[in-house]
Amino acid sequence: MEILQEVKPRVYRFGDKSADGNSKMKNLLGGKGANLAEMSSIGIPVPPGFTITTEVCTEYNLLGQDAVVEMIKEEVEASIANIESLMGTTFGDKENPLLVSVRSGARVSMPGMMDTVLNLGMNDEVVLGLAKKTNNEQFAWDSYRRFIQMYGGVVLGMKPASKDDIDPFEEIMEHLKEKRGIQLDTEFTIQDLKDLVYDFKDAVKKRTGHDFPTNPWDQLWGAIIAVFNSWNGDRAVYYRNMNGYPADWGTAVNVQAMVYGNMGDNSGTGVCFTRDAGTGENVFNGEYLINAQGEDVVAGVRTPQQITKLGSERWAELAKIDDDDRTENYPSLEELMPKIFNELNDYQDTLEKHYRDMQDMEFTIQDGKLWILQTRNGKRTGAAMVKIAMDLLKEKMIDEKEALLLIEANKLDELLHPVFDLSALKKAHVIAQGLPASPGAATGKIVFFADEASKYKNSILVRIETSPEDLEGMNIAKGILTARGGMTSHAAVVARGMGKCCISGAGALKINYKTRTLTVGEHEYHEGDWISLNGSTGNIIEGKVATAEPELSGEFAEVMALSDKYGVMKVRTNADSPKDAKVARGFGAEGIGLTRTEHMFFEVDRIKAMREMILADTVKGRKQALEDLLPMQRADFEGIFEAMEGLSVTIRLLDPPLHEFVPHQLATQKELAEDMHISLQAVKIKVSELEEFNPMLGHRGCRLGNTYPEITEMQTRAIIEAALNLKEKGIICKPEIMVPLIGTVKEFEFQEELIRRTAKKIFEERHDTVEYLVGTMIEIPRAALMADLIAEKADFFSFGTNDLTQMTFGYSRDDAGKFLPIYIEKGILKVDPFEVLDQEGVGQLVKIGTERGRSTKPNLKVGLCGEHGGEPSSVEFCYNSGMNYVSCSPYRVPIARLVSAQAAIKATL
Ligand code: ADP
Ligand code: MG
Ligand code: MG
Repeated sequence: MEILQEVKPRVYRFGDKSADGNSKMKNLLGGKGANLAEMSSIGIPVPPGFTITTEVCTEYNLLGQDAVVEMIKEEVEASIANIESLMGTTFGDKENPLLVSVRSGARVSMPGMMDTVLNLGMNDEVVLGLAKKTNNEQFAWDSYRRFIQMYGGVVLGMKPASKDDIDPFEEIMEHLKEKRGIQLDTEFTIQDLKDLVYDFKDAVKKRTGHDFPTNPWDQLWGAIIAVFNSWNGDRAVYYRNMNGYPADWGTAVNVQAMVYGNMGDNSGTGVCFTRDAGTGENVFNGEYLINAQGEDVVAGVRTPQQITKLGSERWAELAKIDDDDRTENYPSLEELMPKIFNELNDYQDTLEKHYRDMQDMEFTIQDGKLWILQTRNGKRTGAAMVKIAMDLLKEKMIDEKEALLLIEANKLDELLHPVFDLSALKKAHVIAQGLPASPGAATGKIVFFADEASKYKNSILVRIETSPEDLEGMNIAKGILTARGGMTSHAAVVARGMGKCCISGAGALKINYKTRTLTVGEHEYHEGDWISLNGSTGNIIEGKVATAEPELSGEFAEVMALSDKYGVMKVRTNADSPKDAKVARGFGAEGIGLTRTEHMFFEVDRIKAMREMILADTVKGRKQALEDLLPMQRADFEGIFEAMEGLSVTIRLLDPPLHEFVPHQLATQKELAEDMHISLQAVKIKVSELEEFNPMLGHRGCRLGNTYPEITEMQTRAIIEAALNLKEKGIICKPEIMVPLIGTVKEFEFQEELIRRTAKKIFEERHDTVEYLVGTMIEIPRAALMADLIAEKADFFSFGTNDLTQMTFGYSRDDAGKFLPIYIEKGILKVDPFEVLDQEGVGQLVKIGTERGRSTKPNLKVGLCGEHGGEPSSVEFCYNSGMNYVSCSPYRVPIARLVSAQAAIKATL
C-alpha cells in the first residue's frame, strides 16, 4: 500500500476576512505574516497576499536559489492568482495591473533591518495602463520611479559607494530638484517623474551592466531571493547578534497586493501606536503624511503630521507653532479626515484588546479607503514597558502573572541608569528643542558619523537623519540627536527599542557633515564638543550636565512588589563595600552572596602590610604583617554587616594568586625594600618566585589558606570579631564564611576545621558567640562531582560559575577575547558562555553538584554568585535547578528579582 505523506505547505495565504495562518505561527510565518493572517481573520481590512515561510529561507540557505524556486513555484503562482481574483486585477496586465509589495518579516520584528520592495510588477507598459485606469498619471509615474529606486537598491545593489556618498537615486533626484528649484518629492511634475524613471534605468544599466528587468515574474523572484539574502546582510546580522537571535531562524517573505497612499490629497500613509511608546501614557498617537507611500513617514523625508488632535497640539507647542498655523498647515488626521480617523481609532482599540498589549500599526489610505498593513506588539522604552504592564493590569486586560511576564527583564536596566540632577538641570543652557523621541539623560561629545561613535568614551551621535546603516554607532553612542524626522522616524523607533536617549526633528539645527559642525543660530559647535540631551523633554543642552542615581519608585516599585509576591528564589548581591551593599539593599537585595576580600587589600595603607605578609620568609614574619591587617579587615566587615543588618552576608576567603599583590615596577620595588629593610635583590627574587605560568590554575583559592593557614585564621578572626562587636551594639549579623576553589574533600575539611577552631577560640576569649556558617564555592568540576562528600561538612554551596565555566570549557577568561568573538561569528558558539550560563554543559555540573550535595544534606543551602546571577536566562535556570538564591551586582538585583518571579510563574503554566 502506498503511504500518503502529508506535504507541509510552504506558502500561506491571507485576505478577504480569512487566512491559512494565525498570530501564533510567528516562528513559521514571521511576526508580520502571522499578524497579517490574524488581522485578516478577525475582519480588519488587510490587502490580500501570502507568506512564504521562514523554513523556506533556511532551505534557501542550504540548497540555493534554483532548488528553492522549483520547490515553491507552483504555490507562489497559485497564490498570485488568488490575489488577482480577490482584487480583480492581473499581475503584469497592461490595462488592469496588479502590483504587489514584497516584504521581509522575521519571527521578531527587526525594524528597518531588512528590505522591502513596493509597486512590484511595474514596467513601461504597465505604468501606462495604471495611469489610464486610475486616471492619475502623476501617481502612476511616481509609483514607477519609487519601484525602480527600491528594487534597484534592494535587489540590484544600487547603494551608496561609501559613507560620504549619497544614494545614487537620491543624487539624481537632488539634481533635478535643484535644476527645477523645488524642495519636495511631491512637487515633481509628470514629466519630471518620467525623466527620473529614464535616468534611474540608465544609472542601473551603467552600474550593473544589465537592463532593468521588465518581466514582472522575474522581478518577483528577484525580490523574494533578495529578501532571503537580506537575512544575512550586515545590518540584520548585527541586529541579530546584538539581540542574540540565532542565524537559523530565517525570515519569511510576504507578498501582498499594493494599496496606494500616493494617489493624491485623499490618500496618505502613517504609523500609529495604541499607547505612548516613550512614556507608556495611555493615549493613541502616531504620525501620517498625505499623498505619500511606504517608508516616507519613517524616513523623515517630509515632516509628518500628528494623527490625533491632542498629539498635534502638543507637537505644535514644542515646535512653537501657533494654532492657526497648525490647523492650516499641519492638521491632525482627526481634524482633516474625521471619518477615517474614527475607523482607525476603532481598529487600534480592537487590536490592542485582541493582542492584550500595546500595538504599533501601519496604515495606508487609498483614495478615502483605510487599509491596515501591519500590527505588532510595539517596541517601547523600559519606562513605558513598566507603565504599560501595570496599566493593563489595572484596566483588567491582563492579570498579575501576565503583567509580570510582559516585562522584559533586561530592559529594567534602563530604569537603573542615572538621570539628570534636577538642580544641575535648572542651571542648564538650553540651545534648542526637538521632539522627545526616547526618554533618558545623555551627556557626551558630538560625533557626526555612526562609525565614529566609539571615538570618545561618551559620544552623542548628531545626524540630519539616521538610517539602518547607522545601527551599530547608535548602539555605541550615549544619545542620538537628529535634525529631521518625527516621533516615528528611524532614529526614534530604533532608539526606543534600544532604550537609548533620543531627540529627533530638531529643525533649528544646521548640520554640516563636511565641516563637521553643528550650528544653532549664532552658535557653532564642533566635533568633540560636549552636549547633553534630555530625551524626556526634547531639550538640547550646551555642555555637560551632572547626573544623579535613579530611584525605585512608582510603577517600577509596583513591579518589584509583585515580583516578590510570586518569586520563590531569593536574590542577593555581590558587594565588597558598605556603599555597594546599601545600593543593593535599596534595590531589594536580600543579603550578600559574595564579598570578595581581596579588593580590601589594595588600598594604599593596606597594600604595604599585605606585601610584607607575602614577602615574609617566616611564619612569624607573616603573622606580624597579618596582625597589622586584622583591624582594617575587621573594620571593613563591620561596615558591611551594619549595612546588611539582619541579613546573611557571605564572605569569601582570600582567592587571587599572591602575584597580583606584589609590585612589578622598579620604583615601587625599591620603596618596598627600604620599608622592609631588605635588599632590592631580595624583593626581586621573591617577585619572580611568585610568577606563575598559569596563575588561574596556580597558587590561589583555598590553596593559599591551606599553605598559609595564618591567612585563613586572620580572616576568620576579622569576620567573627566584627560580628561580635556589632552584636554588642545590638546589630544582628549572619556571617557565612566561604572557602574558594575547592577540588578535593580534604581541601575543604582542612579549612573548615581551622575556621571552626578559630571561631571557638574567639568565642572563649570574648565569652560570647554568634551564629555563623561555613560553606564552599563549587567552581571546579571535580568539586561538583564530589559534592555529596563535601556537603557532609559544608553548611552551604555557592556555584562560582565564572571559574566553573572557565574550567569546564578550558577557556581562560583573560584570554578568551582572542577567539570567542570569532567563535560566535562562525556559529561555533551561540553566545559568550561567560555572559550567559551554558545550561547544556556547565549547567549539568550545577545540577549534579546540587543533587549530590542535597543527597547527603537535604536542606543544603545552594546559591550562585558570579556574572550569571543577573542574566535572565541563567537566573531562570537557577530557579529550575532548585537553588535557594542567586547573587548579582547591585544594579542587576531588580532584574534578578523579576526573573525569579517569572520563572516561578512559568513553572505553573
Ligand atoms: P518594515 O518591516 O521595514 O516596516 P514593511 O514591509 O512593513 O517594512 O514595509 C515598508 C513600508 O511599506 C511600510 O510603511 C509599509 O506600510 C509599506 N507597505 C508594505 N506593503 C505595502 C502594500 N502592500 N501597500 C502599501 N504599502 C505597503
Ligand atoms: Mg513595517
Ligand atoms: Mg572563583
